[in-house]
Amino acid sequence: MTYNLIKEKLDNGKLVILDGAMGSELEKKGAKMDKDLWCGTCSVEFPELVTKVHEEYISAGADIITTNTYACTPISMKNYGLEKSIEEFNQKSVQVAKKAIKNSKKNIALAGSVSASGSFYRLGIDAMIPGFKKQIKILKEEGVDLIILEAMSSQADIVQTMIECSYKINIPVWLSISCVIDDKTKNVMLGYNDTVDSPPEVYENFEKSLNRFSKLHKGPILIAHSDVDVTGKAIEIAKKNFNGILGAYPNTGYYEKPHWKFADNFTPGDYLKYAKSWSNSGVQIIGGCCGLGVAEIKAISVLKE
Ligand SMILES: [Zn+2]
Repeated sequence: MTYNLIKEKLDNGKLVILDGAMGSELEKKGAKMDKDLWCGTCSVEFPELVTKVHEEYISAGADIITTNTYACTPISMKNYGLEKSIEEFNQKSVQVAKKAIKNSKKNIALAGSVSASGSFYRLGIDAMIPGFKKQIKILKEEGVDLIILEAMSSQADIVQTMIECSYKINIPVWLSISCVIDDKTKNVMLGYNDTVDSPPEVYENFEKSLNRFSKLHKGPILIAHSDVDVTGKAIEIAKKNFNGILGAYPNTGYYEKPHWKFADNFTPGDYLKYAKSWSNSGVQIIGGCCGLGVAEIKAISVLKE
């Protein structure tokens, strides 16, 4: 468990493979999803299954696996009356992932997922800061090799706050953000589009956001939880506006409460074609978000050769 191998690959222009979706893979194995925290409770309630999913991603070729902590944000857990379990859920998520790495006997890095889940803009930025800092601290102390700020579906001010909360932690910090196309202007914007029957949430212009974030964050920026076509457009903009390393872990399908619905017509081979074109254009970190699981990660891992 070390970041050195990842750093070496990135420094040498090589491709690093991330893991893919966690919740849907757990559901396939029979894990029960929580009505509030979705798969966030599984590290405590179904630890063996979470370890198994991590192991499958390692076997599929992932160089980095990510803790199952996206939904375990202090702000969200407090909101659902689980304040006393914040440490336990986040620590346990690191432990079950570490177990998978140990079992694999491979040099795999562990990323701690710090998210903005439950951090709604109307709450005010000040209300979010203690939660971001707390989740980063717990994951770091439990021994993750890097932090991924999964700022997907968030306004630019929230993303900026997450970056600021990650200063001085002395382990690498990656940033992931989601993008949508503004129907009116056709510009790539920060935002998200999860459901088929409601319009996308559209925030700040992506190029403007990138210029803002790049002053604060030099580490990798990843386009995540975005449609594959939007991801491609965002990558082109990012190449012109950000000098650091770029990554992508997009979506397929859409959310229909309480489950992510898969796009049946999108195959692992289709994803390989997208991933190949991004890799050829210089993107160095590729994985999967909602709807892209073990089969897709296995398909794209051939690009490492
Ligand atoms: Zn997603």
